[in-house]
Amino acid sequence: MKYMNLSITELHEKLKNGEVNSNELVKESLELSHQVQEKCNAFVTILDDAKGTDVTDDLLSGIPYGVKDNYSLKNVLSTGSSNTLKDYVPFFTATAVENLTKHGAIPVNKTAMDEFGMGGTGTTGHTGIQKNPWDLTRMCAGSSSGSAVAVASGVYPYALGSDTGDSIRKPAAYCGIVGYKPTYGMISRYGLFAFASSLDHCGVLTRCVRDAAIVVDAMKGKDKYDMTSWDSSKIHLNDDLNDDVKGKKLFYIKELCDIENYENPTDELKSHLENFKETIKKCENLGMIVEGVSIDRKLLDAIPSVYVVISCAEATSNMSNLTGLIFGPRGEGNDYQSIMKDHRTKGFSPLIKRRFVIGSYVLQTENQERYFKNAQRVRRLVVDAIKEQFKNYDALIMPVGTGPAKHLDGSKDILKSDTAALDEHLQIGNFGGFPSITIPNGFIDGLPVGCNITGNCYDDQNVLNIAYALEGSMEYKGQIAGGVK
Ligand code: GLN
Repeated sequence: MKYMNLSITELHEKLKNGEVNSNELVKESLELSHQVQEKCNAFVTILDDAKGTDVTDDLLSGIPYGVKDNYSLKNVLSTGSSNTLKDYVPFFTATAVENLTKHGAIPVNKTAMDEFGMGGTGTTGHTGIQKNPWDLTRMCAGSSSGSAVAVASGVYPYALGSDTGDSIRKPAAYCGIVGYKPTYGMISRYGLFAFASSLDHCGVLTRCVRDAAIVVDAMKGKDKYDMTSWDSSKIHLNDDLNDDVKGKKLFYIKELCDIENYENPTDELKSHLENFKETIKKCENLGMIVEGVSIDRKLLDAIPSVYVVISCAEATSNMSNLTGLIFGPRGEGNDYQSIMKDHRTKGFSPLIKRRFVIGSYVLQTENQERYFKNAQRVRRLVVDAIKEQFKNYDALIMPVGTGPAKHLDGSKDILKSDTAALDEHLQIGNFGGFPSITIPNGFIDGLPVGCNITGNCYDDQNVLNIAYALEGSMEYKGQIAGGVK
């Protein structure tokens, strides 16, 4: 009997009634990790020594899970999928992981990712590319690529992710699972390798909305080591999860979701947006009201560039500590500057170096006003435009990306400038720190696609309830790649 394709609540019940014990679950999860590693290259490290624990009334106790490789784990290799930290073993554990340990959760592997979270393809990590378990010729998006592969393949019910632009929510869509990033600061970022601090969020990938609620309940909390964290002790996402969404009002952005706004749309885009409109009907059948709203096209088109400027600037600054002097392999040279230069030249992939060039450029004194500060102003305008809508609507509902997973051989995909905002709109959730969840939204040509619900800050319960109700009306849920549970 395979257990790892079950949900957290199902596993908890089986642990409690003695049908299976925690050691057996860990063993199964480790075996599956090795199989999935061969097929999709999902992990940097598999923790073969992991052991089961006693099972308590805590839902997470005794159940294995995966940790993205940019979460620090004491005495465990934590590389962020970068050559610059290929031998780095932290001496402390990230608060989010520490919190899960208090609940009896058992990490069984460190999942591969785009280097330091920069990238959306799952192809830039130092251990190679992650392949989509639904179709090995496709990418699984990133940067939480290994976590998405593992959860979709049924290695365990959940894995941790981080999300700076869409890095939990897009891989979740491409792999047919759930990806949830709560309100900014709900989960401490202490011990998560910093990428762009004003946009970085911790979160989780699961196969159902309830599991996402259970895990974030355990991960969240105010932390004295992260001054952006806040007290959410009155929020009980799992206990208060309910599908009574009658009368809730949702909006979608017309400019991005209505097919007539695209010149010569591909068949794939047509199917994707038609599929999304079917989902809107499902929302209406649940008693919700869904309306299309117009947002200034100029603002929407500016989203990707604003993201690039702010995230690269913050990344350049955050990662200036990666010199090879304090941690990481020491470079060669006769003085500290050449040692650092050698380390950084050899250590980083070309994508990261390009981003550091952009970041340094926009932060130069003479460029700051024109690029960095203007990007911050436009970020504010985008957030204000969406917050204005949250006065009338409970949440924003949108399709994720422009269709299913893209080909690893990128030449097969038609990239057009008029779909850039549709591909990148999830960055709005990072600009505003909004709670945002992707759930499976059926299939196009046998490949999963996702839809996303985003709400106002601190309104996580509402966002999860809407997602939970909608998930309940979907044909496929809790699906495992290559088959339906
Ligand atoms: N794809 C985006 C990027 O490349 C998002 C990354 C993320 O959320 N960590 O920066």
